[in-house]
Amino acid sequence: MAKALDNAYSTLQYVMNNVGCGIIIYDAENADVIFENEIIHNSIEEKDLVAEGSRCCLENQIKPCELHLEMWYEFDFKHIKWIDERDVIMCIVRDITHKKIDENMEICFENGEIFTKSDVEYNMKRAIEMDLDEFVVYYQPIIDTKNGECTICEALVRWNSGVFGFIMPNDFIPLAEYMGLISHIGDFVFNEACRQCKAWNDARKDIKVSINLSVVQLLQVNIVENIKAILENTQVNPANIILEITETLAINDMERMTRIIEDIKALGVSIALDDFGTGYSSLNYIKQMSLDIIKLDKTFIDDVDSDDYEQAFVKMVVELSKSIGVKVCVEGVETKSQLDVLMANQVDYIQGFYYAHPMPSNELEEWLDKNGK
Ligand code: C2E
Ligand code: CA
Ligand code: CA
Repeated sequence: MAKALDNAYSTLQYVMNNVGCGIIIYDAENADVIFENEIIHNSIEEKDLVAEGSRCCLENQIKPCELHLEMWYEFDFKHIKWIDERDVIMCIVRDITHKKIDENMEICFENGEIFTKSDVEYNMKRAIEMDLDEFVVYYQPIIDTKNGECTICEALVRWNSGVFGFIMPNDFIPLAEYMGLISHIGDFVFNEACRQCKAWNDARKDIKVSINLSVVQLLQVNIVENIKAILENTQVNPANIILEITETLAINDMERMTRIIEDIKALGVSIALDDFGTGYSSLNYIKQMSLDIIKLDKTFIDDVDSDDYEQAFVKMVVELSKSIGVKVCVEGVETKSQLDVLMANQVDYIQGFYYAHPMPSNELEEWLDKNGK
């Protein structure tokens, strides 16, 4: 009993930390709401909410570990659809801004234009239905400091919307996650990036492609089969594919994450921990999770050429990573003086505007030709 409560508690805690600020649990038999709470609407403390949810799961013999995030995609507050024969559905209300998102909420894009959430939602759904033609994958070179060559590039999606114009990922990825559309976009990027990698490799370009995985994608129950199918369909060499997962996701439920990562790695791909330093992880986790690369976040190197603390941090991360056989990539390098410090500290990879911005695949090919690859 105590163990079951622990499990229920840690799963709910995990959900709270990672994907939501509210939890709703339904009994699928009779569609009764058996537990519902949202921190934002109630004064209830997060820990109490989690404890209460755990108790409820136990009392109703729910196995919260079996929660299906796909449910959330299909979920509409007013019209509950049963799309799985599971006996319990747990729906998670995610709120990217920690405020309730309502239909009239306004969204300000990086280009300064403002639209309502329902505008964006409507058009994003349409763009997905139109074979995702409006989504484009850009690639940013990552330089291997051993030889100064570009051996990896990161796939970064953009939405070239007929209605809104050219939209950057930070402006639509969180919303796509919230609206349950991220798996369509994520699968598209994954497919496209694998296809492109295979094409480059066939043309004797010895390059790897690094692909971002959303928290929501990684939590899907069929994520491993999904990745496997795309790798097989595109016939890319899995050794040339790197998957980037974020630190926040990685640390909250080590056991679960370690298992998923092991399963994914068994397919032959590598794993990079993205945005390292922005969450709360320690290098212990990196060892446990058998990662291949950690990507040190830009915020840690912005002043690396003048700030002793940042230099010491980079030095420590590199030394510890080396001792456990993990490579270090530094993101967001913009100046020569930053680069010099990082080279002196023997980081393995550099990514940043100093070398190149993300660009369409054809421009990357030209860039590679010009830059000796
Ligand atoms: P990220 O994974 O940390 O990607 C690196 C971001 O830093 C990219 O922004 C890149 O353009 C930017 N960057 C690279 N070098 C520099 C630099 O020297 N200076 C500055 N200021 N920025 C630099 P981008 O393309 O706008 O992507 C933003 C975020 O959107 C990504 O951050 C990633 O979290 C997310 N994202 C992008 N594509 C995808 C995708 O296909 N799937 C998912 N799930 N997320 C994606
Ligand atoms: Ca990334
Ligand atoms: Ca990053």
